[in-house]
Amino acid sequence: MMGPAHSLSGAAAWLGVGAAAAALDRPMPWPVLLVGALICAGAALAPDLDHKSATISRAFGPVSRTLCEIVDKLSYAVYKATRSSHDPRRSGGHRTLTHTWLWAVLIGGGAAAAAVTGGRWAVLAILFVHLVLAVEGLLWRAARMSSDVLVWLLGATSAWLLADVLDQPGNGANWLFTGPGQEYLWLGLPIVLGALVHDIGDALTVSGCPILWPLPIGRKRWYPLGPPKGMRFRAGSWVELKVLTPVFMILGGIGGAAALNLI
Ligand SMILES: [Zn+2]
Repeated sequence: MMGPAHSLSGAAAWLGVGAAAAALDRPMPWPVLLVGALICAGAALAPDLDHKSATISRAFGPVSRTLCEIVDKLSYAVYKATRSSHDPRRSGGHRTLTHTWLWAVLIGGGAAAAAVTGGRWAVLAILFVHLVLAVEGLLWRAARMSSDVLVWLLGATSAWLLADVLDQPGNGANWLFTGPGQEYLWLGLPIVLGALVHDIGDALTVSGCPILWPLPIGRKRWYPLGPPKGMRFRAGSWVELKVLTPVFMILGGIGGAAALNLI
């Protein structure tokens, strides 16, 4: 899928988690619902850091371009080192290492650890990166027309404001993880979820997605998971724009309303 559909599916997925949390008597305070949905929308772009024309690789100027080159090389190296004789030869790392459950868990776990140990600046950095991505993904038309610097400023100011809101007692810094020193541990959850939702979205497209690596399926270690061929669509096709996008919006709306106990 393309960036906007990935982001929208990420936001909808977190709103769905909010609905489930409300049903399980662990309701999210509204700032957790909002910030989680935005982080998940941003994190749902992250796996494409292995592709130089992806939204995330362009979002932070030379920093993300350099990171993209490193991630692509690393992914390609891991692919070559771990592929079985039944996995096809490839010429680059796109849709390999960063498109797996293991990567999702590592990135989310790393972010959670940083948020818990790094204090306010770590939380701000996590919020900033994901809010910029959320703007690029959800408001892509507006983001394309404005300069990168404006989007970064918007990300930075909203990160600052939202961190202040979350810090207020009862607003959810310690949602789900209530022990001492566990504030903001939950920030890892929308990051893991966003990456997984991205992988599932890619699995629905023609080339599939090796989500389960390094678990072998059949004789392949990089088995491209996906539905039967007839149910797949091309990235950026009308199915994505005219069917999936409205479906994500509706599901997100229902999830959000249920999470806030409005329905
Ligand atoms: Zn992808």
